[in-house]
Amino acid sequence: MHIESRPDALFPELLSAESTANAVSTRADGSVFYDSHVSVLVPGLNEAANLRVMLPTLMLLLNRTCRNWEVVVVDDGSTDDTAQLMAEWTTVPGFRYLQLSRNFGKEAAISAGLDSCDGDVVICMDADMQHPPALIPDMLARWKAGSDMVYAVRENRDDETWFKRQGAKWFYRLVSGGQRVDVPAHAGDFRLMDRKVVNALNALPERTRFMKGLYAWVGFKTEAFPYTPADRIHGESKFTPVKLIKLAMSGVTAFTTWPLRMLSLVGFMFALASFGYGAYLVAEYFEYGHQVDGWTTIVCALLFFAGINMVSLGVVGEYVGRIFDEVKGRPLYVVRDRLGRAARTEPSAE
Ligand code: UDP
Ligand code: MG
Repeated sequence: MHIESRPDALFPELLSAESTANAVSTRADGSVFYDSHVSVLVPGLNEAANLRVMLPTLMLLLNRTCRNWEVVVVDDGSTDDTAQLMAEWTTVPGFRYLQLSRNFGKEAAISAGLDSCDGDVVICMDADMQHPPALIPDMLARWKAGSDMVYAVRENRDDETWFKRQGAKWFYRLVSGGQRVDVPAHAGDFRLMDRKVVNALNALPERTRFMKGLYAWVGFKTEAFPYTPADRIHGESKFTPVKLIKLAMSGVTAFTTWPLRMLSLVGFMFALASFGYGAYLVAEYFEYGHQVDGWTTIVCALLFFAGINMVSLGVVGEYVGRIFDEVKGRPLYVVRDRLGRAARTEPSAE
């Protein structure tokens, strides 16, 4: 859509006098101003140093971009001075703070934020400035042009370790092995979602919140755009290899059942092989008489099948664990404190 060609875009002063919901206007410098209510959701765990840079950046940018906005910071159990910082920032209209009672994990923090965002559109981004706020206007333009969900896809993973790159490669292969939903590779949580999408996500009852899968599951008209993540400004990544493996396991077990099917296949193949071997032994008995050697074969086979059994039990256990989590029906997160209420409303477009 060429926003410039719209009559209301050509006469922004008319628009500011009589504002229409979801209207768009273009300023003299070509920048676009939206009338929609935009929520920016920022999950953070010990990100006070980064938030000090991010919040002023967002405020400047959102003031220039939309009339009505809110920034919702979800504190996922931080132990640094995020709470003090947000106590100050929530005195500024437009900033809201949701403090969870402990660390529930990024997926739960995003769910908490989605539950409490009021916007017509929600933009989710990391607190470490790896997701450049400067891309927000571009995302909004794609939304206005008709996409319900706009997500950023990494152009490369050069900033990540070998372990993380290989892990990501294998993970996307494994999770798309299910083929129930196609989880796009290299797309993270940096995304814009229309209210329709947010409502659909909020309505999902499951406790295993593998967000990348859920975004894909809800469907809607989605659009990807490439971006190069910036470097983290302060601190280290919160996702340790162990945390990433756990996330990958929950992704695979929440979205695919191929490990269970593969177990049946492996069992079937070994059963076939053992029939073959049995037939061979019987033939050997008739040919050469009773054989007593073969101790090594028996011990190796025993150990091997015991190993397969344990692995199979483990895989089944993963799924049973998921069922257990779902059946308990505990809430996804617990809120300790909420600060800041009103959404920021700019008087008019410049
Ligand atoms: N995060 C969170 N809870 C967690 C772990 C991470 O809210 O348990 C937040 C973190 O503060 C950041 C975002 O999720 O805003 C992405 O985390 P990080 O930058 O550590 O991950 P990476 O970019 O390395 O994948
Ligand atoms: Mg990061």
